[in-house]
This record gives sequence, C-alpha cells and structure tokens, in this order.
Amino acid sequence: MSQPASKQTERMEKIVSLCKRRGFIFPSSEIYGGINGFWDFGPLGAELKRNVKDLWWKSMTRFRDDVVGLDASIIMHPMTWKASGHVDTFADPMVDCLLTKKRFRADQIEPQSGIIYSYTGARDEASGKEIDEPYSVLLTAGKPPESARKVAIQFYAQRGLTNPVLLGETTEKVENTTRFNPENGSLLTEPRMFNLMFKSHAGPVESDENVVYLRPETAQAIFVQFKNVLETSRQKVPFGIAQIGKAFRNEINPRNYIFRSREFEQMELEFFIKPDEVVEKTAGPVATFREGEWPQGEPQPNWGWQAWHLYWVQERLRWYESIGLGRDSLELHWQSREELAHYAKATVDILYKFPFGAQELEGIAARGNYDLTQHHNTSGKSMEYFDQEAGEKYIPHVIEPSTGVDRLVLALICEAFDEEEVTDEKGKTEVRTVLRFHPRVAPIKVGVFPLLKNKPALVQKALEVRDLLRPHMTVFYDDAGAIGRRYRRQDEAGTPFGITIDFDTIGENGPATEGTVTLRHRDSMKQERVKISDLLGILLPQVQ
Ligand code: ATP
Repeated sequence: MSQPASKQTERMEKIVSLCKRRGFIFPSSEIYGGINGFWDFGPLGAELKRNVKDLWWKSMTRFRDDVVGLDASIIMHPMTWKASGHVDTFADPMVDCLLTKKRFRADQIEPQSGIIYSYTGARDEASGKEIDEPYSVLLTAGKPPESARKVAIQFYAQRGLTNPVLLGETTEKVENTTRFNPENGSLLTEPRMFNLMFKSHAGPVESDENVVYLRPETAQAIFVQFKNVLETSRQKVPFGIAQIGKAFRNEINPRNYIFRSREFEQMELEFFIKPDEVVEKTAGPVATFREGEWPQGEPQPNWGWQAWHLYWVQERLRWYESIGLGRDSLELHWQSREELAHYAKATVDILYKFPFGAQELEGIAARGNYDLTQHHNTSGKSMEYFDQEAGEKYIPHVIEPSTGVDRLVLALICEAFDEEEVTDEKGKTEVRTVLRFHPRVAPIKVGVFPLLKNKPALVQKALEVRDLLRPHMTVFYDDAGAIGRRYRRQDEAGTPFGITIDFDTIGENGPATEGTVTLRHRDSMKQERVKISDLLGILLPQVQ
C-alpha cells in the first residue's frame, strides 16, 4: 500500500541517517563540506556494493556460456564519443532560476498552475534609478499576492536597486506551465543544452587536440572492443559482453541521495544478435509475440530482436527477485515512441518504487545495430561478423540491459529498511530497526558472539566458529556488551544470522548440547540450537 508523501519523506530521512550512522554511505570529502553528487561507501556499504557486483557478474558471465567479460579503461579515444553521439547530443535541456541561479533539467520541472504576476521593471525609491527588465513570478494556489511581489522585489534588488518599487504589474491565469521555479515561483531562463561529459586533457599540454572525456557510460568500450573480444573468445552470435565500471556524468541536479550522482558505477551487457532477416534465412519465420506474451524456455534459433529483448527483461526481473527485489517492488515502463531514441526498436525501464517515487533502476534497450555501425563508419575498421551458418556478413544487432550499482544499492537499502515494535522478556516495548537484506546481498552474513567475553573457554570456541566460517562468508565477531545489544547492532547492519556460543556449547550443561550453538534468525528473531558441524551446511546455501 502506498504511504502519504510526508511518511515517505520521513522514511527516506531515517534511511539516510541509518546509512551514515552505520557506515553504509558518507558524503564524499565530508570534512571539507562534501561535494555535490559524489558519495563514499563506508565499511558496510563497500561490502554491499561488492556483493551486488559479484552477483551480477556471476549471473551474467560465469553461469552462462554465451557471455564474456571486459574491463576497459575509463578514458578512451575521444573519437569514441564523437561516433557514439555523446559529443554532439549527450546533453540535457537546462533552465536556470533567474533569482537563485539554481539549475534544473527542463524536462524534470513539474507542471504548475496559478497566476503569473508580471512586471515591466522597477524603480529605486530613493535614487529614482529605473530598471526596465521584465520579470514574472508564478503564484500558486493558497499563496498571498504579497509573496509574488516579495520575490520580484528580491529580483530587482539583486540588480542594484536598494528599495525597489515594482512597475506595471499585470496578472494572468495559467495551467500546467513549466516556465517557473517550483521552489520559489521565479521565472526560469529559456532551456539551453548542457553537455554532461566531464572533460580533461591527456598529457602535459591543455590544448583542443588532447581533450579527453571521463566515460559517461561503460557500453561504448564494449562496442569498440567488439572485434577483439569476438576473435579471442571464440564466441558466435548470439553472444554477449558484460562490463562493470565507473561512469561520470556532470548531472545538473544530483538528487535523491545517491540516486542521481555525478560519479557512479554501471553494470552493462551488450548482447549481440543476428538481424531478423538473417534469422529468417537460417531458422524460418521469426518468433513474434503479442502484447503480454513472453518467450518461454531456452533461447531458440528462430528468436529475433523481439524475443531476445523480452527474454532479457525476464532474466533481469528474475535476477532482481533472487536478490530480494520482488515484482511487487518493481514496475515496468515501456517507452513510448516519443521517448525512444531514434535508433531504438524498444526500451523497457525497470523502475523501483523508491520512497521518493517509482524511478529507473535499469533500462533494457533493443538498439538495432546503431552503435557498431557508428564505430564501423567512424573508425573505418570493419565491425562486421561473418555468419557461417547464413553464409553472409552483417553488423550484429544488440540488446542492452544497463543498470547502475549505486541506484541498486539504494533500492536494496530502501527495500530492506524496517522498523517494528518488539517486546522484551521484561515486557518493555521498543522499536527495532532492522535491514532485512536478502542473505545474498547482506554485507555481513553472520555475527559470532561469545556469551561472555571474560570466559576464555567461550571466547576460544567462538573464535573457532569464526575461523570455520570466515573462508566462506563475511563474519563479524563481537564480544562487547549485552547479547541483546549485540543482536540489535547486527539487525541494523542487516546481518541475517547470529551465532551465540554459550555454556551448552562448551559442555557445561552435559554432553547432549556440547558442540551446539544458538543460531538466531534476524527476521523472525527465532533461535534454534544447531551443531557447529552443521553450520556451514545450513548457512552456505542461503548466502551464496
Ligand atoms: P536517467 O534518465 O535517470 O538520467 P538514463 O536513462 O540516462 O537515466 P542510462 O543512460 O540508460 O540512464 O544509464 C543506465 C543506468 O545507469 C540507469 O538505469 C541508472 O541505473 C544508471 N545511471 C544513469 N545515470 C546515473 C546517475 N547520474 N547516477 C546514478 N546512476 C545512474
């Protein structure tokens, strides 16, 4: 069930505070005041991120025969970005607030309705100096006209009038305008294009000849290395190349915590397929699917771009489910004709229902053979593939599932965050904060606790258990404080299992329980008695 906006904002605030408090995420260079759009992952965040990347990598490459990996440089030949279109078109239309200079993406301004208060200019009361620059403010419902005038006075004061008197006020009713700053009502500039690539120079001289860019996506390296990978990996189309790596975008408006950052990591797959005409030639009529129909079972020789596209959407949904993001938390957005890039045949966005709204986690695009063709033409090097079965050469088409590690980490934290009222043995109720991570992604898999730290036999056994598990999973050994407190600390870190070594373990209560420990489950808080020798067998299948 969806919650009211204020509850969602409160939830997000709690998540941000927990992430800082428990060492998931810190503002980058915080001692200098931080830097907008850049974030650091602390001890728990680093483990979480690593798990996400490892799980993606395993499912995309190691568990498949038809996908291989790549780890390319961040800075590439600048022609790459000319060919890909990023130099000329990787730009968003931007608008600036005329009052605060704050910059927004023009296509992200929420339409607003109200009354526009327009002025032809203003005069300084004392000096009589006049400014004849027109200016407008949008007054939304429920606000007094004085608030519009106040904004206009600030605008003219910024232009050098000490005590501005507004001139030529007129009003006009509007609906759904995007020309005004939603935060203060001020008029915005006309949209201007802004290139999102970070520029630098390679080598000692800062000249136009040695301009380089920090890559805004990892995908282009895959296209550029297509031939090298093909020739060395002995793959045949259809096959894919996967890559995880940093990407940089000088986003105008980094926001929603780490959702939109300027430095982030992407996990991208380019899955190369035969053009439909070639499929038809070698396998007969190409499989088609009506709306709502999905391909079933293993990939088939008669699959064209549509089947492969749908296949990857399903694969990706299955993967999200396997790490704890079920279908209920996700939405699919099929891009409309107007939204699609000119070369794309279809794109599906997988959205996660963040507390600040359902937003893109991953895009799965059927990109035709646009990218390889661009590099083929720009570099003069052939990107063609000789298909032995079809007996012809072609530039393969591609399906691209592309997702962001940081966004996914945020989605996993949002999904996991929970607060519940619990009553302790003494009847006292308190709020338990718990991150219900799927054991596969949890930063720490198991906490190991000797019941008392001043009993050497307990400590020694606990260290043995730690060392038994450590080669297989992340273990956190904690002997400080009351056992209940230690459990709570691990609940907040999202640790799914806790193992306590007590007097039963060391045989003080008879041989029946010797060599057993209590295994506590984070979500139910239930405890069971298990043999140390059974621990690996119980835990491993759940955390891998
Ligand atoms: P948006 O419309 O949100 O800017 P996009 O459609 O431009 O995203 P793509 O270029 O398709 O994004 O990038 C693929 C994935 O990379 C996105 O689905 C997202 O997970 C991630 N990503 C893109 N931009 C950012 C960013 N600024 N911060 C964090 N992750 C990002």
